[in-house]
Amino acid sequence: MAANWKMHKTPAETAEFFAALRPRLLAGAAPFVVVAPPFPCIPAAVVAAAGLDVAIAGQNLYWEPRGAFTGEVSGPILKAAGCDYVIVGHSERRQYFGETDETVNRKVGAALEAGLTPIVCVGETLAEREAGHTETVLRRQFERGLWSLGVEQILNCVLAYEPVWAIGTGRTATPETAQAAHAFLRSLAQSTFGGEAAGHLRILYGGSVKPENVAGLMAQPDVDGGLVGGASLDAACFASLLG
Ligand code: PEP
Repeated sequence: MAANWKMHKTPAETAEFFAALRPRLLAGAAPFVVVAPPFPCIPAAVVAAAGLDVAIAGQNLYWEPRGAFTGEVSGPILKAAGCDYVIVGHSERRQYFGETDETVNRKVGAALEAGLTPIVCVGETLAEREAGHTETVLRRQFERGLWSLGVEQILNCVLAYEPVWAIGTGRTATPETAQAAHAFLRSLAQSTFGGEAAGHLRILYGGSVKPENVAGLMAQPDVDGGLVGGASLDAACFASLLG
């Protein structure tokens, strides 16, 4: 279960979150957890997550390893700061910051090069779904975002199906809608990378995952976990998503 905090929480609030989450994680068999805080909170998160089955993620990276790119953060910097994962191609990055399938592809390659697991986000807008273009969009994002990868590399990636109309809207995909998209993405992985790689590929669902809908979504055969925004900000709420 992956938490995307977006532009929320300070370092002190990061420490508070983990202090509240720690006993819940130690108490029971929780799934593997990834937390993506804002960049300045990464050191606090790394310290606070010590000893827990929790990995820390960046929310974005630039594809060059270093250089004169003011305001950007690279894969090697994230890795050195203690991250093991990085979110790539979130729809908010595509919508507000000009990210394209081509930049996603460069960032995925840079993440893998740095030893980070990219969580690669794909998903259609409401207009695209209503026009019947969901599969066309997912195919384009999958193919253009991941075209340069080999089988070994795809096994070090996580895919996140995040329908844009469900992100932060409270409008969740039904379990059946999510399953259909996930099965389609897995079929794309199968035709590109083969059956074994497709079977191992972890595909997360993201879009208004909440305590009241998480069980139905996670019960779907091709839904391997969740990428959670709003419901990940409160430790008790997030803990309740962990089963
Ligand atoms: C997200 O930002 O990846 C997300 C899924 O947000 P929310 O859970 O708030 O819809």
